[in-house]
Amino acid sequence: MTDLEKKSRQALVPSDWDYAPAPESREIVRIEERYGHFVGGEWLQPRETYTTIAPASEEPLAEVGQATAEEVQGAIATARDAFENGWSALPGSERAKYLFRIARILQERSREFAVLESLNGGKPIKESRDVDLPLAAAHFFYYAGWADKLEYAFPNRRPRPVGVAGQIIPWNFPLLMLAWKIAPALAAGNTVVLKPAETTPLTALLFCDVVRQAELPPGVVNIVTGDGRAGAAIVEGDVDKIAFTGSTEVGKAIQRELAGTGKRLTLELGGKAANIVFDDCALDQAVEGIVNGIYFNQGHVCCAGSRLLVQESIHEDVVKKLKRRMKTLRVGDPLDKNTDVGAINSRAQLEKIQELVAAGEDEGAEIYQPPCRLPEKGYWFAPTVFTNVAQSYRIAQEEIFGPVLSVLTFRTPAEAVEKANNTPYGLSAGIWTEKGSRILWMAERMRAGVVWANTFNRFDPASPFGGYKESGFGREGGRHGLEPYLEFQP
Ligand code: NDP
Repeated sequence: MTDLEKKSRQALVPSDWDYAPAPESREIVRIEERYGHFVGGEWLQPRETYTTIAPASEEPLAEVGQATAEEVQGAIATARDAFENGWSALPGSERAKYLFRIARILQERSREFAVLESLNGGKPIKESRDVDLPLAAAHFFYYAGWADKLEYAFPNRRPRPVGVAGQIIPWNFPLLMLAWKIAPALAAGNTVVLKPAETTPLTALLFCDVVRQAELPPGVVNIVTGDGRAGAAIVEGDVDKIAFTGSTEVGKAIQRELAGTGKRLTLELGGKAANIVFDDCALDQAVEGIVNGIYFNQGHVCCAGSRLLVQESIHEDVVKKLKRRMKTLRVGDPLDKNTDVGAINSRAQLEKIQELVAAGEDEGAEIYQPPCRLPEKGYWFAPTVFTNVAQSYRIAQEEIFGPVLSVLTFRTPAEAVEKANNTPYGLSAGIWTEKGSRILWMAERMRAGVVWANTFNRFDPASPFGGYKESGFGREGGRHGLEPYLEFQP
């Protein structure tokens, strides 16, 4: 044996390939101690406040306003004034300049926003940095392009803005949902009052700084914070349109409240999407798509592929590969650049996930969670997959909104369609097969607003998004996304 061989035999061979910590610095973002409501371009001191926290550590981050009904009505009156006295009469090309400016500033400040989004919401920095922020900026760019072309988007229909839009958004994509709501509303010539979710107000509040930096006329964008009571006050207020994204339960309540008032409404609600894997698909690619479909953003995604439908002949193979892949998912600090699965957004959401997972075990499904060490503080749930799931189980019917996948099987394409559509929801679906003809055959029969083929969770501002059945109505994104913010003169 040569010296070199001896040396290399004695060298320590790593048995484990651990990732070194790679935390993104928090220094870039400055969080105020206390925030008010952003109305008419000014910060108004709130009468009541609450504390917003980091779900990964339960660390208090800031005091934030809990808007009263009176404060909300004040914001709506300010938005109405801005609508009537300037904004709605501004040429589209001028409105476009502001939207382009906002898009550019979001790009320039994207790291700051990404860090704050991950801190306040718990999602991995690589997602807020590579998905939420680029898409939020892209929405402003996209709708900036339409602002002076509304006559061409809807020829011979003489489009006009509807007025003041009340917008209520959830906690799973705080800044992105804000962009989905504000960009088309402004492009169409409306003014807005927006309420972010109680648990994730901070990027919406930082956005107010962008609004000022872009020199948007005061009152065009107003942001009030608080819990569901503030949302309800917007719904009751003197607005012309409500755009809501959130739970089906609250969506239904809003629809009941608005019936007969003449206020326009779009609802983007829950989902229980089927991700359908056929035996002729590229299996490893499909496994990546399954993982992305359910573990992206901890499964806090309305269009998550939470029901996996696998063709019976490849069930064992898919589950084996999936479990192997799940073992490589890194769960932990949302600000670590290596993290794949971050924190659950709130204690309430964690309890909801725990309750549904316990129901799955009680009903007889088989649970698998890869070995992973969860941090002691904060809200965490390990990536989970259930096999032996029957269609009737709660975990196959109800939206869990967490990193929990239910696996079911099918034999024929017709059976896959029937099972996929057997849910009160209809937001999205995925199909994995090498046959183009099968993709088209399936897509035609799926009762889902978005059907992805050989991919999942892909978004583009030019593409409309929205649901069927209890997933809501109205479309956001694309030319379709302008329509709810316009009325057409005969
Ligand atoms: P909600 O529907 O309660 O929240 C969505 C938004 O509506 C939030 O800003 C919320 O404020 C506000 N809101 C709450 N009550 C009212 C009301 N009566 N009138 C007007 N606005 C109101 O969802 P949750 O956060 O409670 O989540 C519950 C479940 O909903 C999740 O487990 C998930 O299944 C589903 N969900 C679906 C989403 C989707 O994208 N489709 C997004 C979020 C949740 P506040 O934050 O203060 O409650």
